[in-house]
Amino acid sequence: MQEILRVERLKKSFGSRQVLNDINFSLYRGDVLTLIGSSGSGKSTLLRCLNLLEEADSGSIVFHDTDLLSHQVNIDLMRQSMGMVFQSFNLFDNYTVLGNCTLAPLLTKRIKATQEANDLALHYLSKVGMAEFAHAKVTTLSGGQKQRVAIARALCMQGDLLLFDEPTSALDPESVGEVLKVMKELAKEGLSMIVVTHEMSFARDVATRVLFMSAGDIVEDTTPHELFTNPKDERTKQFLSRFI
Ligand code: ADP
Ligand code: MG
Repeated sequence: MQEILRVERLKKSFGSRQVLNDINFSLYRGDVLTLIGSSGSGKSTLLRCLNLLEEADSGSIVFHDTDLLSHQVNIDLMRQSMGMVFQSFNLFDNYTVLGNCTLAPLLTKRIKATQEANDLALHYLSKVGMAEFAHAKVTTLSGGQKQRVAIARALCMQGDLLLFDEPTSALDPESVGEVLKVMKELAKEGLSMIVVTHEMSFARDVATRVLFMSAGDIVEDTTPHELFTNPKDERTKQFLSRFI
């Protein structure tokens, strides 16, 4: 199995407050890693450090044999292979659905011809069931539709790791299922992903591994079966008891 990401001794503070203490884990190609834990435990900060939206204080993030914390790293190039999907979609409201999906590939010159970028966007939009909305303004879409477009937009960069930060937390209950379904299909196709979520059914049924975070530490890193049937740490037990 190919290791595509290895995080070692990662630390991050905001002022005097240490938010990530000493984070270590690896991700192999095809892994669906879910990151669970209470609010404030450092999940978003960890994801944001991984794709350099936040600058970690020390440690290493080795992505495809390159340490992202070394100073020679080209951030733009790195972000092209590690996409991120946010809780609040972060779509560009004044562009169409198609425009949102073609913007980054064209701007980064990953794809040079508009027609080719459009074809690629339509391919991924149909994958998430949104091709028929290609020419709609994003402001006319429901939350679930917006999130599916955000996923298609991330896929258009054709990277090999997608980060999701609570992708269904801002959605109404009817929309949650449609987004989870798309994510399940991507997982089945072998896309590597790290998913911060409170959807325990996703962690249980789709994840290859579950990491439980508490107060800036990864307290457990194990299989979903092990985590849900035999949690080792008292903090994990307490956290899971809230979902029963
Ligand atoms: P989670 O995603 O698990 O809810 P976060 O990573 O968002 O947790 O936050 C972890 C801790 O770091 C929280 O105490 C939060 O207040 C703090 N924090 C996050 N971002 C910042 C920031 N930009 N400045 C200061 N503190 C922050
Ligand atoms: Mg968060």
